Formats: sequence, C-alpha cells, structure tokens
Amino acid sequence: MLNVSSKTSRVYNFSPGPAMLPTEVLEQMQAELLDWQGTNSSVMELSHRGKYFPKVMHESEADLRELLNIPDNYHVLFLHGGGRLQFAMVPMNFVANDQVPDYVTTGLWSKLALKEASNICMVNQIVNTEDSGYTLIPNLSDWPLNPEAPYVHFVDNETVDGVEFATTPEVGKVPLISDMSSNILSRPIDIEKYGMIYACAQKNAGVAGITIVIIRDDMLTDQKKGMPGMLCYKNHAKEHSYFNTPPTLAWYVTGLVLKWLKHQGGVKKIAEINQRKAKKLYDFIDSSDLFYNQVHKPDRSRMNVVFNIRDESKTERFLIESEKRGLTNLKGHHLKGGFRASIYNAMPEEGVDALIDFMREFK
Ligand SMILES: *Cc1c(COP(=O)(O)O)cnc(C)c1O
Repeated sequence: MLNVSSKTSRVYNFSPGPAMLPTEVLEQMQAELLDWQGTNSSVMELSHRGKYFPKVMHESEADLRELLNIPDNYHVLFLHGGGRLQFAMVPMNFVANDQVPDYVTTGLWSKLALKEASNICMVNQIVNTEDSGYTLIPNLSDWPLNPEAPYVHFVDNETVDGVEFATTPEVGKVPLISDMSSNILSRPIDIEKYGMIYACAQKNAGVAGITIVIIRDDMLTDQKKGMPGMLCYKNHAKEHSYFNTPPTLAWYVTGLVLKWLKHQGGVKKIAEINQRKAKKLYDFIDSSDLFYNQVHKPDRSRMNVVFNIRDESKTERFLIESEKRGLTNLKGHHLKGGFRASIYNAMPEEGVDALIDFMREFK
C-alpha cells in the first residue's frame, strides 16, 4: 500500500495534469477520510444541501476571493466538465445572433478552444503562432482586434507548448476571456481586466472533476432555447453552483488546496517561489550543452518548462533514469516530443533542484 504519510516515499511528479498535490493536503484527506470534521462520515457521503457540506462551498469561495482579490461584482462558480466544456460553454453563452468572437491561438489548447467554438458559431482567429511552432506571443499592437466582438478568448498559459502571457493583454471594452487552467493561483491577477476566467482544477487547484469559473455579473445571459440548463452560466450562478449535485469530493480537495495556499503566504508569495523555480531551471537549460528550450524568453511559461535534448537518441534513457530517481512524468506531449517539467504550485523547490542535479549528471 502506498504510504502517503512518509514524505520521503513520494516522488517528484512533473505531470502536466492530473498533477502533484501538496503532501499536506493528501495527509489531511487521509486523516479525515472516515470522519470529516466530527460528522462520523466521509465528506463525499454528505449531501451538498445538508447541514455540513455547505461549509466547503462557502469557505472555498471565500478563500478563492481572498487569494485572488475577486471583486463583489464577479460570481465564483464550481462546475463539472473540465476545461474543455468551457470551450463550448463560452460561445454558447456569449455569442448572440451574428456576432463573431475573436480568438488568439498561441498553442495547442487555444487551437482546441477555437475548434470547439467554430463548431458553434463563426469565429475570427486574430492571432495564430502555429508557424513558429508556438514559441512566442506576438505583440498586442499587431492584433487586429474587432471592437464589436462579443469577447476575445486566449489561453494564459499553454500547458503543452510552454508559452505564457507575461502580462494581461489590454483589449479595450471587449470582454476578455481567459483559460487559466494551468496557471490560475500561480501569481496575482487583476480580475477586473477580465469578463471571465476559467480553470480546470487538476493542474494547480485540486483534482480532476471540478472547474473554477470567475465571471462578471453583466456577462451572465439567460438560457437560450435548445441550450441544456447545465450549460448556462446564469443557472449555475443563481443556484450558487448547486444547479445539480456538484462534484463534492473534488470541491473539497480544491478547498484544502486553497487553505494550503493561504498557509504558504498566498498568491503573491507563491508567485515569488514559482518565479525562482522556473528561472533556475531555464538558466540551467540555457547554460547546458545537452539541453535546449526554443521558446522566446519573455514568453516562457513559469509552470510548464518544455525542453529538448540535442542528441535525441538519449531521450528514452533520460526518461527511464529520471523515473528511477523519483523524478516522474517528464515526457513531453505526444505531439511535441522532448521533455516537459510541469512545476505548479505544489512542486517544491527541492523537486526542481533534484531535477537540475539529475540533468547535470546525465550525459
Ligand atoms: C488541461 C487543460 C485543458 C483541458 O482540461 P480538461 O479538464 O481536461 O478538459 C484546457 N486548457 C488548458 C490550458 C489546459 O491546460
């Protein structure tokens, strides 16, 4: 049986998602599995409308609001369906009649978001960096923004390609919608610049099964004819994410991760640590004769560090030996090849140090 209480037996898991959780969170789950807060039940056996579970709902929302400094005119929703359902819900809710939203494609995930939307409405791809191999983010001044668009969609951190926006794009009055699935809670953000932000939880905010949505009041629209009730943000907002049975276990884990993050000193503090972790790793890669990274430096992701080895015949050996050292899941995305080290909030700095040591020794 896996012994999670012994920290030394845990690997440094560089998986892009589902990703590593803080050991403290797993230990708390283990400790309260059979008796959650004196209820003599596990948390997943409790009714969401009962006497106890609403505490998870209220506290997680309050903690998220505190961590991200979310203004009162934004709703916080906890939904099913992962990041990908958002790709469809966004156009279904926000595109009326003949409106055409703007899409920014800077990597695989934004390409998939565009594809899903184009099955629902007309879309205008205003940026596409596929020709560069998704290695950069073009200057905003070159974006042909449409001031009449119902929204501009972009992916803040491209999990597969290792490209991240260094700052929030300023797009004027058009609502900005961002997929922050792989970097939410990794640094402070100015929520007021967005119409909506969404993020599946299994990368930086918990486990698979729940998706965080932060949405401005005035974005909410009524359920349209033919639209399933589950796909209407307004229904979820009206019911405080209790439109149907929420994924209670996943919600509880997100609640624990948020408390853990507060305990670490909050988002500003974790952002400093994330910055340091990423810089160390990129500095090492840049100085190495063996490894390289092709992403334009200012656009490099602090969460997903992609890299390659000059002698590709050594790829397999690198993966096998790293696993033996307890450095797991370093394989790059199957479409990209190479390696990827996902270093989300829960990856301790020692994990990055251990990876660098291994890379230094690897010949
Ligand atoms: C993982 C990921 C998704 C997809 O999330 P699912 O929960 O698997 O649907 C979407 N966008 C980004 C940026 C991701 O990293």
